[in-house]
Amino acid sequence: MSFTYDEKIDGALPSVDRNTLISALRALSPDLEVLHEAEELRPFECDGLAAYRTVPLCVVLPSTVEQARGVLRVAAAHGVPVVPRGAGTGLSGGAMPIEKGILLVMAKFNRIVALDPVAATARVQPGVRNLAISQAAAPYGLYYAPDPSSQIACSIGGNVAENAGGVHCLKYGLTVHNVLKVDVLTIDGELVTFGGESLDSPGFDLLALFTGSEGMLGIVVEVTVKLLPKPQCAKLLMASFDDVEKAGRAVADIIGAGIIPGGLEMMDNLAIRAAEDFIHAGYPVDAEAILLCELDGAESDVDEDIARVQTLLAESGCGQVRVAHDEAERLRLWAGRKNAFPAVGRVSPDYYCMDGTIPRRELARVLRGIAALGEEYGLLVANVFHAGDGNMHPLILFDANRPGELDRAEALGGKILELCVQVGGSITGEHGVGREKINQMCVQFTRDEITFFHAVKAAFDPSGLLNPGKNIPTLHRCAEFGAMHIHHGQLPFPHLERF
Ligand SMILES: Cc1cc2nc3c(=O)[nH]c(=O)nc-3n(C[C@H](O)[C@H](O)[C@H](O)COP(=O)(O)OP(=O)(O)OC[C@H]3O[C@@H](n4cnc5c(N)ncnc54)[C@H](O)[C@@H]3O)c2cc1C
Repeated sequence: MSFTYDEKIDGALPSVDRNTLISALRALSPDLEVLHEAEELRPFECDGLAAYRTVPLCVVLPSTVEQARGVLRVAAAHGVPVVPRGAGTGLSGGAMPIEKGILLVMAKFNRIVALDPVAATARVQPGVRNLAISQAAAPYGLYYAPDPSSQIACSIGGNVAENAGGVHCLKYGLTVHNVLKVDVLTIDGELVTFGGESLDSPGFDLLALFTGSEGMLGIVVEVTVKLLPKPQCAKLLMASFDDVEKAGRAVADIIGAGIIPGGLEMMDNLAIRAAEDFIHAGYPVDAEAILLCELDGAESDVDEDIARVQTLLAESGCGQVRVAHDEAERLRLWAGRKNAFPAVGRVSPDYYCMDGTIPRRELARVLRGIAALGEEYGLLVANVFHAGDGNMHPLILFDANRPGELDRAEALGGKILELCVQVGGSITGEHGVGREKINQMCVQFTRDEITFFHAVKAAFDPSGLLNPGKNIPTLHRCAEFGAMHIHHGQLPFPHLERF
């Protein structure tokens, strides 16, 4: 099976005596939870990318900064790697353990420390669930804008580490645009702060550098987020199409007309049918594609935009257009989209969720390319994604029990990402690189760029103990993978030209 990143990572690490390590961790505090029995470790062997699994040496669940600092110092003293974990919903294997490492689970950091409705900010611990922030802010008419579909479960620490996005990020920005400050423990246990209470801070923008660094530069112990006033009104419009490409062109037309919807999502027929069967959202199951377009703001502006979008949709050749007539219908239509991944999980034994970003104008071409690649590899692909951002989420359906299907799914996923790079896009939109896309980093970046990434990592973590083997490939690995970086928009895959 090829679903492993770097088999050499664990092999190259020095072996540490487990009992000595556990005694040192236990000595930190009687309250520190340290798990090491086989049956205690098994639930932590993977994150949301369940195809990659490794049981860690031990799992530690600190509940205070002092405990977390102690764990890092013990790890540094013993030369043991540390993999941070929030809620474990990540889809790129970022929180996948290392066999000879500590899994540092931040779930007990689950307090909202302070919420300031006047400044419209909240200070929260990293284990706080994304949705819990908006729930706490709701009585003040405020909310936290980035809303990953996993928001009911994923943690804000994981969101910062992945620079998470969501339906509303088209208009309101990603995590990086909605976080003011993070407090971080370095591998040596030093507490440092990146960012500040105001909009700009002196010095290099280390907050932006840190956001999306996938647990490789430090451990987030507190996050200060921006809260936004809830829009006066939000209206959702669903448009159905008999052709996926027409839907792709309609997305470009809406944004091209200067309208920035609160959310602009697309689902293809396979995803529509799976979601409808699961949630009964009221989707047209015979449509080849639907667009969900939400307009929010002042009521008069929203009504005006709805009318403009309806005109654009009619011109783009869409079939039925429906505006949710009340809040219950709006939420039901969103529920279908937000549950589309688990819905696809009901119709296939396994699925592999990709995450690439492309320029919006390339949507139709890339959807055509994904369909052709799916046929070539003999696997079905469902598409459900943040169309307004050009952030694709092809879900590759496979059955791991059928010999060779897992390998085919992985190979197809790689080709889809390479197609995204070829049209001027990126191998990730919001799920991160983790262990999953490490080979495609060699496609996206030059040797020099990858060398810079290693230098940044070394500046924060000279011993390389924080989440090693994720995100940044070794140059050696890129050479083995075939030194595939694109030159002048040309990948060494002539067959991709046909899309
Ligand atoms: C059904 C489903 C839908 C999803 N939809 C979206 C979506 O719409 N948008 C989106 O962006 N993502 C989505 N995701 C992916 C995932 O939920 C996000 O990446 C999320 O940000 C991960 O948060 P987590 O707490 O689960 O982090 P984990 O999976 O536990 O960890 C993710 C990464 O963050 C690091 N990390 C975690 N906590 C810390 C910390 N305190 N300090 C330093 N590093 C840390 C880990 O080492 C790892 O590299 C989805 C996942 C699922 C299962």
